[in-house]
Amino acid sequence: MFNLILFGPPGSGKGTQSEKLIAKYGLKHLSTGDLLRNEISQKTSLGQAAQNFMDQGQLVPDEVVIGMISSALDANPEAQGFLFDGFPRTSAQAEALDKLLELKKTPIAVMLALDVSEEELVKRLVKRGETSGRSDDNNESVIRARIMEYHNKTTAVADHYKAFDKVVLVKGEGSVDDIFTRLCKEIDARN
Ligand code: ADP
Repeated sequence: MFNLILFGPPGSGKGTQSEKLIAKYGLKHLSTGDLLRNEISQKTSLGQAAQNFMDQGQLVPDEVVIGMISSALDANPEAQGFLFDGFPRTSAQAEALDKLLELKKTPIAVMLALDVSEEELVKRLVKRGETSGRSDDNNESVIRARIMEYHNKTTAVADHYKAFDKVVLVKGEGSVDDIFTRLCKEIDARN
């Protein structure tokens, strides 16, 4: 098992790089953003509860996403490892994830943190909003709110894993392939 957290602010390229990494390393991709959007499109009660938070650029309550991740872990007993994308996003989520993985006797191997300037983030998200159909990318004040949530609540997650010496900062600017090569180098050094 090789469990990896791909970390970084909204727009840092987690989704793009995750697709490439799961193909190369045979990991199961767990993106809480994708799982939540799926719940919304299926019109489940969980999706309905999450939607208002997402539309305002706020984090969905911890118990909702933790429950979702717990079910996804149980639903994939054969996985060779998990790539967590967009999770954990708060200290409480990080602690819950550590406990869930402890039960499965398979810890986080490394957190790869994509480093991208704020100016570049906003530029990418506005551009993505032109084609993605994601309402939270379509409005600059919602984009700014998401980046604020990241600074206020999510950066603490990196501190949590730094205490276990598991965080590696990776430059998240440049071509998609160059960034992918940097990430692979870090994984291969630990896998
Ligand atoms: P991005 O990182 O580009 O903002 P995501 O698809 O990861 O996009 O997340 C979209 C939205 O889904 C977030 O703004 C938030 O409302 C919600 N969300 C996703 N993951 C989490 C999480 N782990 N905890 C709380 N809310 C989450």
